[in-house]
Amino acid sequence: MNDIFSVKNKVIVITGAGRGIGNFFASELSKMSAIVYGIDKTFSNKNKRNVYFQKKCDITNKTQFKKICKNILKDNGKIDVLINNAGITLPNNSSKDYSLEDWKKTIDVNLTGAFVCSQIVAQIMKKQFIGSIINITSINAELGFPNNPAYVTSKGGLKMLTKSLARDFGKYGIRVNNLGPGYIVTEMTKKSYQNKKSRMIKQRHTLLGRWGDLTDLIGPCVFLASDASGYVTGQDIYVDGGWLANGLPE
Ligand code: NDP
Repeated sequence: MNDIFSVKNKVIVITGAGRGIGNFFASELSKMSAIVYGIDKTFSNKNKRNVYFQKKCDITNKTQFKKICKNILKDNGKIDVLINNAGITLPNNSSKDYSLEDWKKTIDVNLTGAFVCSQIVAQIMKKQFIGSIINITSINAELGFPNNPAYVTSKGGLKMLTKSLARDFGKYGIRVNNLGPGYIVTEMTKKSYQNKKSRMIKQRHTLLGRWGDLTDLIGPCVFLASDASGYVTGQDIYVDGGWLANGLPE
Protein backbone atom coordinates (compact mmCIF):
# COMPACT_ATOMS: atom_id res chain seq x y z
CA MET A 1 0.00 0.00 0.00
CA ASN A 2 3.07 2.27 0.09
CA ASP A 3 2.68 3.60 -3.40
CA ILE A 4 -1.02 4.34 -3.63
CA PHE A 5 -0.37 8.06 -4.12
CA SER A 6 2.30 7.47 -6.74
CA VAL A 7 1.93 9.01 -10.19
CA LYS A 8 5.22 7.57 -11.41
CA ASN A 9 5.04 6.66 -15.11
CA LYS A 10 1.41 7.71 -15.35
CA VAL A 11 0.75 9.43 -18.66
CA ILE A 12 -1.05 12.66 -17.81
CA VAL A 13 -2.56 15.15 -20.27
CA ILE A 14 -3.24 18.65 -18.88
CA THR A 15 -5.03 21.32 -20.87
CA GLY A 16 -4.27 25.01 -20.28
CA ALA A 17 -0.74 24.15 -19.09
CA GLY A 18 0.93 27.27 -20.48
CA ARG A 19 0.63 29.13 -17.19
CA GLY A 20 -1.19 29.25 -13.85
CA ILE A 21 -2.72 26.17 -12.27
CA GLY A 22 -2.19 23.95 -15.33
CA ASN A 23 1.47 24.89 -15.58
CA PHE A 24 1.99 24.24 -11.88
CA PHE A 25 0.30 20.83 -12.07
CA ALA A 26 2.36 19.90 -15.13
CA SER A 27 5.66 20.85 -13.45
CA GLU A 28 4.88 19.22 -10.10
CA LEU A 29 3.52 15.98 -11.56
CA SER A 30 6.61 15.76 -13.81
CA LYS A 31 8.83 16.13 -10.74
CA MET A 32 6.93 13.17 -9.26
CA SER A 33 8.01 11.13 -12.33
CA ALA A 34 4.73 11.26 -14.24
CA ILE A 35 4.95 11.54 -18.03
CA VAL A 36 3.17 14.83 -18.57
CA TYR A 37 1.83 16.39 -21.76
CA GLY A 38 0.82 20.03 -21.36
CA ILE A 39 -1.57 21.43 -23.95
CA ASP A 40 -2.01 25.16 -24.56
CA LYS A 41 -2.41 27.79 -27.26
CA THR A 42 0.79 29.47 -26.05
CA PHE A 43 3.66 28.64 -23.72
CA SER A 44 5.44 31.63 -22.25
CA ASN A 45 9.23 31.89 -22.41
CA LYS A 46 9.62 31.92 -18.67
CA ASN A 47 8.27 28.38 -18.59
CA LYS A 48 10.90 27.21 -21.08
CA ARG A 49 12.81 25.03 -18.66
CA ASN A 50 9.80 22.89 -17.87
CA VAL A 51 10.44 19.18 -18.02
CA TYR A 52 7.09 18.16 -19.44
CA PHE A 53 6.14 17.86 -23.11
CA GLN A 54 4.50 21.02 -24.43
CA LYS A 55 1.97 20.68 -27.24
CA LYS A 56 0.50 23.75 -28.85
CA CYS A 57 -3.22 23.33 -29.40
CA ASP A 58 -6.46 25.23 -29.00
CA ILE A 59 -8.71 22.75 -27.23
CA THR A 60 -11.71 23.99 -29.19
CA ASN A 61 -10.01 22.45 -32.24
CA LYS A 62 -11.18 18.84 -31.97
CA THR A 63 -9.09 17.55 -34.88
CA GLN A 64 -5.89 19.03 -33.48
CA PHE A 65 -6.49 17.67 -29.96
CA LYS A 66 -7.36 14.22 -31.33
CA LYS A 67 -4.15 14.12 -33.36
CA ILE A 68 -2.05 15.01 -30.29
CA CYS A 69 -3.72 12.27 -28.24
CA LYS A 70 -3.16 9.76 -31.03
CA ASN A 71 0.55 10.59 -30.99
CA ILE A 72 0.73 10.38 -27.18
CA LEU A 73 -0.86 6.94 -27.41
CA LYS A 74 1.59 5.90 -30.12
CA ASP A 75 4.57 6.97 -28.00
CA ASN A 76 3.38 5.67 -24.61
CA GLY A 77 0.75 3.01 -25.29
CA LYS A 78 -1.72 4.63 -22.85
CA ILE A 79 -3.21 7.77 -21.33
CA ASP A 80 -3.89 7.41 -17.60
CA VAL A 81 -5.15 10.86 -16.65
CA LEU A 82 -6.79 13.84 -18.36
CA ILE A 83 -6.99 17.13 -16.47
CA ASN A 84 -9.48 19.49 -18.11
CA ASN A 85 -8.01 22.70 -16.76
CA ALA A 86 -8.09 25.14 -19.72
CA GLY A 87 -10.52 27.91 -18.92
CA ILE A 88 -11.32 31.53 -19.61
CA THR A 89 -13.31 34.17 -17.80
CA LEU A 90 -14.85 37.25 -19.39
CA PRO A 91 -16.42 39.20 -16.52
CA ASN A 92 -17.69 42.12 -18.54
CA ASN A 93 -21.22 42.98 -17.74
CA SER A 94 -24.28 42.15 -15.71
CA SER A 95 -26.50 39.39 -17.12
CA LYS A 96 -28.87 42.03 -18.48
CA ASP A 97 -26.27 43.27 -20.99
CA TYR A 98 -23.80 40.38 -21.20
CA SER A 99 -22.72 39.84 -24.81
CA LEU A 100 -23.71 36.68 -26.63
CA GLU A 101 -20.24 36.58 -28.16
CA ASP A 102 -18.54 36.33 -24.73
CA TRP A 103 -21.15 33.82 -23.62
CA LYS A 104 -20.38 31.55 -26.57
CA LYS A 105 -16.60 31.92 -26.22
CA THR A 106 -16.71 30.98 -22.52
CA ILE A 107 -19.03 28.00 -22.95
CA ASP A 108 -16.98 26.82 -25.93
CA VAL A 109 -13.73 26.54 -23.95
CA ASN A 110 -14.86 25.82 -20.37
CA LEU A 111 -17.69 23.40 -21.08
CA THR A 112 -17.76 22.15 -24.67
CA GLY A 113 -13.94 21.98 -24.74
CA ALA A 114 -13.84 19.80 -21.64
CA PHE A 115 -16.61 17.57 -23.05
CA VAL A 116 -14.90 17.02 -26.38
CA CYS A 117 -11.45 16.39 -24.82
CA SER A 118 -13.05 13.89 -22.42
CA GLN A 119 -14.78 12.07 -25.28
CA ILE A 120 -11.52 11.76 -27.20
CA VAL A 121 -9.43 10.57 -24.25
CA ALA A 122 -12.19 8.24 -23.01
CA GLN A 123 -11.99 6.34 -26.32
CA ILE A 124 -8.40 5.50 -25.38
CA MET A 125 -9.07 4.88 -21.66
CA LYS A 126 -11.98 2.60 -22.52
CA LYS A 127 -9.64 0.13 -24.21
CA GLN A 128 -7.30 0.19 -21.20
CA PHE A 129 -10.26 -0.28 -18.85
CA ILE A 130 -8.78 2.33 -16.51
CA GLY A 131 -8.44 6.11 -16.41
CA SER A 132 -9.06 9.24 -14.40
CA ILE A 133 -10.55 12.46 -15.73
CA ILE A 134 -10.27 15.53 -13.49
CA ASN A 135 -12.38 18.55 -14.32
CA ILE A 136 -11.28 21.86 -12.81
CA THR A 137 -14.49 23.53 -11.71
CA SER A 138 -14.78 26.42 -9.25
CA ILE A 139 -16.84 27.75 -6.36
CA ASN A 140 -18.73 29.35 -9.28
CA ALA A 141 -20.17 25.88 -9.91
CA GLU A 142 -22.18 26.26 -6.70
CA LEU A 143 -22.87 29.98 -6.22
CA GLY A 144 -23.90 33.00 -8.29
CA PHE A 145 -21.09 35.55 -8.75
CA PRO A 146 -21.73 38.98 -10.30
CA ASN A 147 -21.26 40.12 -13.90
CA ASN A 148 -20.09 36.80 -15.27
CA PRO A 149 -23.11 34.65 -16.18
CA ALA A 150 -21.20 32.67 -18.81
CA TYR A 151 -18.41 31.62 -16.42
CA VAL A 152 -20.81 30.69 -13.62
CA THR A 153 -22.93 28.69 -16.05
CA SER A 154 -19.92 27.00 -17.64
CA LYS A 155 -18.60 25.83 -14.26
CA GLY A 156 -22.04 24.74 -13.06
CA GLY A 157 -22.42 22.83 -16.32
CA LEU A 158 -18.97 21.29 -15.98
CA LYS A 159 -19.81 20.10 -12.49
CA MET A 160 -22.83 18.24 -13.86
CA LEU A 161 -20.97 17.06 -16.97
CA THR A 162 -18.66 15.24 -14.56
CA LYS A 163 -21.58 13.39 -12.99
CA SER A 164 -22.89 12.50 -16.42
CA LEU A 165 -19.51 11.23 -17.66
CA ALA A 166 -18.94 9.33 -14.40
CA ARG A 167 -22.32 7.66 -15.01
CA ASP A 168 -21.54 6.72 -18.60
CA PHE A 169 -17.84 5.84 -18.28
CA GLY A 170 -17.93 3.94 -14.97
CA LYS A 171 -18.55 0.68 -16.77
CA TYR A 172 -15.24 1.15 -18.60
CA GLY A 173 -13.26 1.68 -15.40
CA ILE A 174 -12.97 5.43 -16.05
CA ARG A 175 -13.38 7.71 -13.06
CA VAL A 176 -14.46 11.34 -13.48
CA ASN A 177 -14.26 13.90 -10.67
CA ASN A 178 -14.31 17.65 -10.06
CA LEU A 179 -11.55 19.61 -8.41
CA GLY A 180 -12.90 23.05 -7.50
CA PRO A 181 -10.42 25.72 -6.40
CA GLY A 182 -11.39 28.80 -4.42
CA TYR A 183 -9.52 32.04 -5.09
CA ILE A 184 -5.95 31.24 -6.15
CA VAL A 185 -3.52 33.93 -7.28
CA THR A 186 -2.89 33.47 -11.01
CA GLU A 187 -3.05 35.62 -14.12
CA MET A 188 -6.81 35.01 -14.14
CA THR A 189 -7.35 36.55 -10.70
CA LYS A 190 -4.41 38.99 -10.63
CA LYS A 191 -6.54 42.09 -11.06
CA SER A 192 -8.81 41.13 -8.21
CA TYR A 193 -5.84 40.24 -5.97
CA GLN A 194 -4.03 43.50 -6.69
CA ASN A 195 -7.05 45.57 -5.66
CA LYS A 196 -6.82 45.72 -1.86
CA LYS A 197 -10.56 46.04 -1.26
CA SER A 198 -11.42 43.16 -3.53
CA ARG A 199 -8.56 41.04 -2.15
CA MET A 200 -9.68 41.57 1.45
CA ILE A 201 -13.37 40.83 0.75
CA LYS A 202 -12.36 37.47 -0.68
CA GLN A 203 -9.81 36.77 2.03
CA ARG A 204 -12.37 37.45 4.77
CA HIS A 205 -14.96 35.14 3.23
CA THR A 206 -12.72 32.09 3.59
CA LEU A 207 -12.70 30.23 6.90
CA LEU A 208 -8.90 30.09 6.80
CA GLY A 209 -8.58 33.84 6.31
CA ARG A 210 -6.41 33.75 3.20
CA TRP A 211 -6.31 33.30 -0.56
CA GLY A 212 -5.17 29.92 -1.84
CA ASP A 213 -1.72 29.12 -3.20
CA LEU A 214 -1.01 26.87 -6.14
CA THR A 215 0.61 24.47 -3.67
CA ASP A 216 -2.74 24.06 -1.89
CA LEU A 217 -4.13 22.31 -4.97
CA ILE A 218 -1.50 19.69 -5.65
CA GLY A 219 -2.43 17.20 -2.90
CA PRO A 220 -6.04 16.75 -4.07
CA CYS A 221 -4.80 16.65 -7.67
CA VAL A 222 -2.37 13.81 -6.88
CA PHE A 223 -5.12 12.02 -4.95
CA LEU A 224 -7.48 12.11 -7.94
CA ALA A 225 -4.74 11.20 -10.44
CA SER A 226 -3.41 8.27 -8.42
CA ASP A 227 -4.69 4.86 -7.38
CA ALA A 228 -5.48 6.32 -3.93
CA SER A 229 -8.82 7.48 -5.38
CA GLY A 230 -9.54 4.18 -7.16
CA TYR A 231 -13.12 3.97 -5.81
CA VAL A 232 -13.91 7.69 -6.11
CA THR A 233 -15.98 8.88 -9.04
CA GLY A 234 -18.59 11.53 -9.76
CA GLN A 235 -17.43 13.61 -6.78
CA ASP A 236 -16.69 17.26 -6.06
CA ILE A 237 -13.58 18.13 -4.08
CA TYR A 238 -13.39 21.82 -3.22
CA VAL A 239 -10.09 23.37 -2.22
CA ASP A 240 -11.47 26.73 -1.21
CA GLY A 241 -10.26 27.46 2.34
CA GLY A 242 -13.84 26.87 3.47
CA TRP A 243 -15.49 29.43 1.17
CA LEU A 244 -18.52 27.26 0.39
CA ALA A 245 -18.96 26.25 4.03
CA ASN A 246 -19.17 29.83 5.25
CA GLY A 247 -22.73 30.85 6.08
CA LEU A 248 -21.98 34.28 7.50
CA PRO A 249 -18.67 36.11 7.04
CA GLU A 250 -17.32 37.82 10.21
P1 NDP B 1 -4.98 31.26 -16.32
O1 NDP B 1 -5.75 32.24 -17.13
O2 NDP B 1 -3.80 31.74 -15.58
O3 NDP B 1 -4.54 30.03 -17.24
C1 NDP B 1 -5.44 29.41 -18.10
C2 NDP B 1 -4.67 28.75 -19.21
O4 NDP B 1 -5.64 28.11 -20.08
C3 NDP B 1 -3.92 29.79 -20.06
O5 NDP B 1 -2.61 29.36 -20.29
C4 NDP B 1 -4.75 29.83 -21.33
O6 NDP B 1 -4.00 30.07 -22.50
C5 NDP B 1 -5.27 28.40 -21.41
N1 NDP B 1 -6.37 28.32 -22.35
C6 NDP B 1 -7.47 29.13 -22.40
N2 NDP B 1 -8.23 28.79 -23.44
C7 NDP B 1 -7.60 27.75 -24.07
C8 NDP B 1 -7.89 26.98 -25.22
N3 NDP B 1 -8.98 27.23 -25.96
N4 NDP B 1 -7.05 26.01 -25.57
C9 NDP B 1 -5.92 25.77 -24.86
N5 NDP B 1 -5.60 26.47 -23.76
C10 NDP B 1 -6.42 27.45 -23.36
O7 NDP B 1 -6.04 30.61 -15.33
P2 NDP B 1 -5.86 29.73 -14.01
O8 NDP B 1 -4.61 28.97 -14.05
O9 NDP B 1 -6.16 30.60 -12.86
O10 NDP B 1 -7.10 28.75 -14.18
C11 NDP B 1 -7.02 27.40 -14.60
C12 NDP B 1 -8.38 26.75 -14.41
O11 NDP B 1 -8.76 26.85 -13.05
C13 NDP B 1 -9.49 27.43 -15.21
O12 NDP B 1 -10.39 26.45 -15.68
C14 NDP B 1 -10.17 28.30 -14.18
O13 NDP B 1 -11.50 28.54 -14.51
C15 NDP B 1 -10.04 27.44 -12.95
N6 NDP B 1 -10.14 28.16 -11.69
C16 NDP B 1 -9.23 29.13 -11.34
C17 NDP B 1 -9.34 29.78 -10.13
C18 NDP B 1 -8.37 30.81 -9.68
O14 NDP B 1 -8.62 31.42 -8.62
N7 NDP B 1 -7.29 31.08 -10.38
C19 NDP B 1 -10.46 29.48 -9.22
C20 NDP B 1 -11.35 28.45 -9.70
C21 NDP B 1 -11.19 27.82 -10.88
P3 NDP B 1 -3.86 31.54 -23.13
O15 NDP B 1 -3.09 32.32 -22.12
O16 NDP B 1 -3.12 31.29 -24.37
O17 NDP B 1 -5.25 32.04 -23.31
